[in-house]
Amino acid sequence: MTSPSLLLLVDLDGVLYRGADPVPGVGAVLAARAALGDDVVYVTNNSMWYRTEYVDRIAGMGAPVSADRIVSSPRATALYLRDHHPAIRHVLTVGASGMDRELEDAGFRVTRAGDAGELIRGEGVEGTDGGDGWEAAGRPEAVVVGLDPQIDYLRLTVATDCIRAGVLFIATNRDPVYPTERAIRPGAGSIVAAVEAASGVTPISIGKPAPYLLEEAARVVGREPAEAIMIGDGLTTDIAAALAVGARSILMLTGVTSRADVDAASPDERPTWVAADAAELAALLELAALLERAGD
Ligand SMILES: [Mg+2]
Repeated sequence: MTSPSLLLLVDLDGVLYRGADPVPGVGAVLAARAALGDDVVYVTNNSMWYRTEYVDRIAGMGAPVSADRIVSSPRATALYLRDHHPAIRHVLTVGASGMDRELEDAGFRVTRAGDAGELIRGEGVEGTDGGDGWEAAGRPEAVVVGLDPQIDYLRLTVATDCIRAGVLFIATNRDPVYPTERAIRPGAGSIVAAVEAASGVTPISIGKPAPYLLEEAARVVGREPAEAIMIGDGLTTDIAAALAVGARSILMLTGVTSRADVDAASPDERPTWVAADAAELAALLELAALLERAGD
């Protein structure tokens, strides 16, 4: 490599698109950066989808993409478990099918809390006294919790039994709400909070604002997270995660944060740069590339 390229970690909702609509010009800016040799990796806290389910949507917005450049919170969870807990092979999951698939892809045996729950269905409290959830699940070594649209009392019971048995408790993310195009719905964090309350154990959370999602995303292209520029629209998620790994950040005003929000934030919570639109994003990335070359 003759000149150092940028590592861009890019949030999806509020940056590349807003619901179904593209944010004008952002896909083209990323495509131009990739053509110059920059690494572009997408990072999202959303725990419900498998990597390939994003590819067409991202490509349709003109942005450079391949499945392995998409690091969602369940993908990062699978990579984190593999990197940090190599002895763990069997996980109990409370989440959507995309999350299960990411874990299976990384080589984990997955037991769904819904399936184990059927084995302890019985009399007693809400029909759950048919046995111990950890035994019914085949003694998994970790519990992974994400957004489970079919969450119910049996699933909570199984997850809690497993954590009481002493196994590792991992959350894909702790976002309390999940904004859809039409409404605000409970997020993974609301389900995580229920399991936390019932078990008395605080999980390791992988998604932003924790550092792990960005660490795993940088590793996907063989780089260090501190080299990255995080491009996101959330102060308390994207920018906080960037600060946690020592990365620079660009706060896009195309999503949930206004300029007044940035001004009201304390100095140690602010992004490196702020961009109102794709044109300002392009100019800042050009500046960052110039600075990188000057420091070479
Ligand atoms: Mg966002």
